[in-house]
Amino acid sequence: MTPTHRIGIGDAERIGRRAATPAPDTVTATETHCPYCALQCGMRLVVRNGAVSVAVRDFPTNKGGLCQKGWSAAELLSRLDRLTAPLMRTAKGEPLRPVSWDAALDRTAAEIRRVQDRHGREAIGVFGGGGLTNEKAYLLGKFARVGLQTPNIDYNGRFCMSSAASASLRAFGIDRGLPFPLEDIPRAEVILLVGANPAETMPPIMQYFEAQKRSGGSLIVVDPRRTPTARSSTLHLQLTPGTDMAVAIGLLHIALRDSLVDCDFIADRTRGFDAVRRDAASFWPDRVERLTGVPAAVLEQAARLLGRAKSAMILTARGPEQQAKGVDNTLAFINLALALGMIGKPGSGWGCLTGQGNGQGAREHGQKADQLPGYRRIDNAADREHVAGVWGIQSDELPGPGMSAYEMLDSLGSPADAPRSAGSDRTRASVRALLVIGSNPAVSAPNSAHVRERLKSLEFLAVSDLFLSETAELADVVFPSAQWAEEEGTMTNLEGRVLLRRRAAQPPEGVRSDLELLAALARRLGRGRYFTDDPESVFDELRRASAGGAADYSGITWRRIEAEDGVFWPCPDAGEHGQEHPGSPRLFERRFATEDGRARFCAVRYRPSAEEPDAEFPLYLTTGRVMAQYQSGTQTRRVKALNAIAPEPRLEIHPELARRLAIEDGRRVRIATRRGEAVMTARLTATIRPDTLFAPFHWPGVGSANLLTNPALDPVSRMPEFKVCAARIIPDGTEPATSQGLENGGAAAIPDVCRRTEAIPGPQGES
Ligand code: SF4
Repeated sequence: MTPTHRIGIGDAERIGRRAATPAPDTVTATETHCPYCALQCGMRLVVRNGAVSVAVRDFPTNKGGLCQKGWSAAELLSRLDRLTAPLMRTAKGEPLRPVSWDAALDRTAAEIRRVQDRHGREAIGVFGGGGLTNEKAYLLGKFARVGLQTPNIDYNGRFCMSSAASASLRAFGIDRGLPFPLEDIPRAEVILLVGANPAETMPPIMQYFEAQKRSGGSLIVVDPRRTPTARSSTLHLQLTPGTDMAVAIGLLHIALRDSLVDCDFIADRTRGFDAVRRDAASFWPDRVERLTGVPAAVLEQAARLLGRAKSAMILTARGPEQQAKGVDNTLAFINLALALGMIGKPGSGWGCLTGQGNGQGAREHGQKADQLPGYRRIDNAADREHVAGVWGIQSDELPGPGMSAYEMLDSLGSPADAPRSAGSDRTRASVRALLVIGSNPAVSAPNSAHVRERLKSLEFLAVSDLFLSETAELADVVFPSAQWAEEEGTMTNLEGRVLLRRRAAQPPEGVRSDLELLAALARRLGRGRYFTDDPESVFDELRRASAGGAADYSGITWRRIEAEDGVFWPCPDAGEHGQEHPGSPRLFERRFATEDGRARFCAVRYRPSAEEPDAEFPLYLTTGRVMAQYQSGTQTRRVKALNAIAPEPRLEIHPELARRLAIEDGRRVRIATRRGEAVMTARLTATIRPDTLFAPFHWPGVGSANLLTNPALDPVSRMPEFKVCAARIIPDGTEPATSQGLENGGAAAIPDVCRRTEAIPGPQGES
């Protein structure tokens, strides 16, 4: 079926050709996908006399379901504050003013040349986004390496899925968020969901969990908050923030003690179990209770449910992953899944619930500092040779790996005036000019006040976005970019299913796609022959670049995606006379993607968070999302219906802690960490632990949660520790002091079950 329909008013089912320029008195309907999260719900966009609205589409992932964000997404297309012309400031301190595309492009190209002539090629950085289409992510990676010849490209997905990606690569030799389709979820007898709250972050996915429950299945949730997801669970493990790894090893300890592990699976399909078994030996339930606050009896119950199930899944998300030990946290849960023999069987498996819209695809095709398209490595000679061949350059022209996202942001500006974060590599050259596409690091990066200062210190900043985001406000040149429903391109959802977003409306006059922007800049830099701005041609080139790589898209075409409701990678091209590859909905059924086909157990050492509460900052602070907002809020804060639901950041505080601090519900409070202070409205709720505060991160300004977060990085994934740091709370108008009801470092407010009494061993280094 053609995905774009033109239909007469009142005849909603007749199919026509396209909806981009509707004639008067016609209705066009285009089958496409939501602009937001990684579920990429299918939706139909109906254009009636120029007005766009969202309608149901029966797509296999969301089966007609949409959340409030999806239902209200069309409002983004008609916002009056939409950027419709490039903006430029003539000098630092001058205001941004509308200019022509030629003027903005000429200035940007001239600044790139000037900075590179003066400071070298790597003085230019590129910062992308996990919401970009595969085509944009691919072309952005190529633009950095071929157009700018800089190693310094990374993206905000580093802040999202990088720990799960590194863990999955180590254990299985491949990184695909879910190695099975969503339809497998109801087949699991037991599901262990760690650090995820899909009931609020992607509600349509809950139909799979509800189906699992209806079939008699159990859901175990591990989360410091009693979220709506946790409230619907069979068992809730309300752990102390930052102690996920101890929970995983503790469950493995019980499974070993009670002979619940699958010895045949371990012998036939894995390597490295002995070291993991040895390490688990000392994680007795009562010790794990002391470390995590989860009662030993609850741990025993969870281990028995998992270990006795015929099929079980472990799903992790940002809770354990967004930590300075996020890779090891994730590996500890993968170790548990492997020990129980839960992988590669029907209704069983480990998976990561990806967050950003194209969190999966955007990390496969060259936006990451160390990667080339197809999940190839930039430091591998054969990989470089292949991609250079597709790009028509010599492999020695390709730069090497660049800095990770936070490290690049931390390096911005002149090294002389740069107060770099503790632990940063001061020997690395600085990035003096930055191109940001589809990202808002001024709000979404940790330690954001510092990041804003670094952005301000740049010699030149160019930003492409739909709206004047907080990062765009700091730019020297701003490009107005087309948005989801105004352009075409592919996305890869959390299952590894490659989808096609079709254009439903024309972009406003003056707006161009990021592909056009990159191709136009490349022409001005004398590299235009390497670039096209046609999305389907870019996808065809991506297919060739990915051929033979781990994320092989070479057998996927736009035609097949439409005909088959998406195609799962890997999907190699069959060649001229071969039989079309069906795609790969399920991985690991017979072998893992390692050299010998066996999964790897990876030994991990339990260690504390980078910053633990102390007398000065006696509470834990954790951050996350709310249902009606998305990421840095650049889009959702502009949607009336969403803003009415969640107009401001509300800090979750347990009533017992609030009572001790004399804080009332709805009162403004200051929260302080070692990075800075933020002001939020108190929301008293018994669903949070009494020793923990929860702050949503979608807002800029004084209420920005990332003014507080810790940029301590995981040694492997370079993921910052968004999920845990030490904080104190200051009722407005009072001085911060531990005597304000926080005697004993706040611990007096903590019930025994939540109190950690065992000293945590010091950092052990990477295992
Ligand atoms: Fe959009 Fe995600 Fe909501 Fe689906 S769950 S409608 S993809 S935001």
